[in-house]
Amino acid sequence: MSHVFEEMEKNPVRIFACKNCSHRLRFGSNSCGACYAKATILNRRIIAFLLLIFLTIFPFLIFVTLTIFT
Ligand SMILES: [Zn+2]
Repeated sequence: MSHVFEEMEKNPVRIFACKNCSHRLRFGSNSCGACYAKATILNRRIIAFLLLIFLTIFPFLIFVTLTIFT
């Protein structure tokens, strides 16, 4: 199991690029690893977390609504 984390350390998730120098930002970091410019707020882990919750809760609410009111 530990090799999975080792792989993640070697190949960190990089979704967004720096606006200043277009260096690929390591996901979850607050600033660019190359020029230390402030990273986009979308690169924050909390955003991904909230998005994940939203995508999980929303279809569930639709399902519940359809189950109860039909
Ligand atoms: Zn940068």
